[in-house]
Amino acid sequence: MKSYRKLTLSLPEITARWYGQSRGAPVRVIGIHTTECNEANKAAIAVAKFFTRLPSNRKASAHIVVDNKEAIRCVPDNKPAWAAPGCNFDGLHLELVGRANQTMPQWEDSYSQNVLKLGAKIVADWSQRFNIPVVKLTVPQLKAGKRGIVGHVDISRAYGLTRCFCFFGFDYCLLSWRSL
Ligand SMILES: [Zn+2]
Repeated sequence: MKSYRKLTLSLPEITARWYGQSRGAPVRVIGIHTTECNEANKAAIAVAKFFTRLPSNRKASAHIVVDNKEAIRCVPDNKPAWAAPGCNFDGLHLELVGRANQTMPQWEDSYSQNVLKLGAKIVADWSQRFNIPVVKLTVPQLKAGKRGIVGHVDISRAYGLTRCFCFFGFDYCLLSWRSL
């Protein structure tokens, strides 16, 4: 799995307009998001460019966005992305091109399968470099400061700071990520 280290380092970069300068807390959580856009070619670039254009009253970003073919880095791992209040300073955030209301069969279409495969490499890389286990945390575990993976939905439930409930295909994704 060491080969994944290089992959993250060599990602194309489109740096987001808004993110923090200092983490102030050790990384302990991987936050998974859905972009809520269509499964299209070059969607990751489109989302990354969207992050470059947001006005100051709508600051948002994530570390990496993946579509079916490409992963784009938007925020350096050592800086906090403005992705999910409650887990910005201690989280790494991954946007998967897709929609939260996708059913399991929709996660199984070829576009989503490729998104998940590429996303899995990012998760594996983060998991190794930051010593984060590939396990889904419950909301109480998240609040208790455990290390692991959560959906934005869990962060919203734990901290109540945003109403974003993106990303639901969790059990399915963890199965593919664990098989790495
Ligand atoms: Zn989100």
